[in-house]
Amino acid sequence: MSPIFIPPPIRRTKKCMRCGQLYPKKAEQCIHCSHLNDQELEELKQQIEKTHQSNKQLGKLFLYLSAIVLIGMAIALLN
Ligand SMILES: [Zn+2]
Repeated sequence: MSPIFIPPPIRRTKKCMRCGQLYPKKAEQCIHCSHLNDQELEELKQQIEKTHQSNKQLGKLFLYLSAIVLIGMAIALLN
């Protein structure tokens, strides 16, 4: 895992200091957490964390699959 993660620049959004998600600059408050109390915010954060975890696993799966496809193509070319 790379320790440096640079998120892609998304225009017209800013990052919420409370929940860490992006929301439109036009919005006065964060659309994700401004209506939540502290406990609900914690739950939201946990959900976000879970989503990140499954995205990571999906990324890994995709890497494996493309490796398999590449190997399959190499074998097909060799034959
Ligand atoms: Zn927020």
